[in-house]
Amino acid sequence: RAKAAGGNRYELADDDSNARVIARHSLSNGLPSALENGEFFIEYQPLVRLADGTVRGAEALVRWLHPVHGVLGPDQFIPLAEDTGLIVPLGRWVLEQAARQARAWQDAPEGDAERLRVNVNLSPCQLSHPTLVSDTVAVLENAGLCPSALCLEVTENDLIGADEDALRPLRQLADLGVDIALDDFGTGYSNLSYLRRLPVSTLKLDRSFTRGMQRAPADPVDVKIVEGIVSLAHTLDLAVTVEGVETAVQAEHLRMLGCDTAQGWYYARPGPPERLHTLALADAS
Ligand code: C2E
Ligand code: MG
Ligand code: MG
Ligand code: MG
Repeated sequence: RAKAAGGNRYELADDDSNARVIARHSLSNGLPSALENGEFFIEYQPLVRLADGTVRGAEALVRWLHPVHGVLGPDQFIPLAEDTGLIVPLGRWVLEQAARQARAWQDAPEGDAERLRVNVNLSPCQLSHPTLVSDTVAVLENAGLCPSALCLEVTENDLIGADEDALRPLRQLADLGVDIALDDFGTGYSNLSYLRRLPVSTLKLDRSFTRGMQRAPADPVDVKIVEGIVSLAHTLDLAVTVEGVETAVQAEHLRMLGCDTAQGWYYARPGPPERLHTLALADAS
């Protein structure tokens, strides 16, 4: 049974592991037809430039409107989609939708929306799929979207240990002008020399690091860590995006620490695509 936990967070009730096994089984069964039946939808969460508070784009976050369980979050079905192989067509669908949406934001007559971009999460199965580069290029062409308006997010853990062959598709995309972000950064153990070899342009600092900034004064150890990561990132010419910004105090701490972009409930929860345009226009005026 699906249970909504505050706003846009949806979690499976986990009171009974047996129920979970059954739920998992029935979810897997419904997955293949879900894409054909149009049961997936995407919410967009704004990415805000900390220096001036302008909206620079949004991250596409997939949801499943399950006919029985209601809205399910990605943590509940992405692992299943990975196991069943559905992640490849599902991921391609998300990319297509997101690219078209970004183009629509850019085409809207009002305001200065040229700069709006879109971030899309990639799962490890997509990374190792032989048509990742050609699919992505085709999606961008069909949508009429410039590669630099797309950022692909790959988690640090999915890239740890990737050798040069495994990194080649990402490098090709980066060479085409697509931004690559290292998602949930700081939760893995990539060493500094390894970071240098990755074709990434952005570090997305995991939410666990921004928690210590919730209060004033901020947790001094967390401040030192974020300071260190920002200085390392900027030395390597990488931008820093922070996840999970929930309060104004946090946003201000992170801005002063030199983080470039922020994302979190303080700015907006994930929501329908139309809303992004309203937010972008609000900050342009
Ligand atoms: P992520 O890429 O790290 O996305 C950020 C997650 O943090 C999202 O959860 C978002 O709703 C949540 N979040 C944003 N701001 C706040 C905040 O201020 N506080 C808190 N507590 N949480 C916040 P969501 O939407 O449940 O997505 C979970 C994960 O599922 C994502 O983590 C991403 O790894 C994965 N995911 C989402 N969409 C896709 C997709 O299309 N493909 C793949 N492969 N994975 C996806
Ligand atoms: Mg992400
Ligand atoms: Mg993340
Ligand atoms: Mg995360």
